Amino acid sequence: MKIALIAHDKKKNEIIELAKEYVDVLKRHELYATGTTGTLIMGETGLPIHRMKSGPLGGDQQIGAMLANGELDLIIFLRDPLTAQPHEPDVSALLRLCDVQSIPLATNASSARVMLEAMKNSIYFK
Ligand code: PGA
Repeated sequence: MKIALIAHDKKKNEIIELAKEYVDVLKRHELYATGTTGTLIMGETGLPIHRMKSGPLGGDQQIGAMLANGELDLIIFLRDPLTAQPHEPDVSALLRLCDVQSIPLATNASSARVMLEAMKNSIYFK
């Protein structure tokens, strides 16, 4: 599957922990990420990741374009609901496109764990 990983700044540590915990699952898939999130995860796990621009500089929109083209299968986007984001319109657009395309979307670490656990032992998620 093609999976996108995104985390707002205050959620970066959470997504790194998640990636470390599920590195054996994630390494079986093709990974995409916004710039800073991707750089951090690559540095901490060694996973190969296609990196877009940083979120506030258009990375969320690049991920959104992939979604619109049917090029992504699952999104893990750890949002920070307590901090105003300068690129909030881009964030909303990305979340909306997941629903337009009916693409699985986790917006917090607990939801992401449910998805990654399901992927761990399943031959359905390739
Ligand atoms: P970043 O972007 O990974 O470049 O920090 C994430 C975001 O804020 O959308």
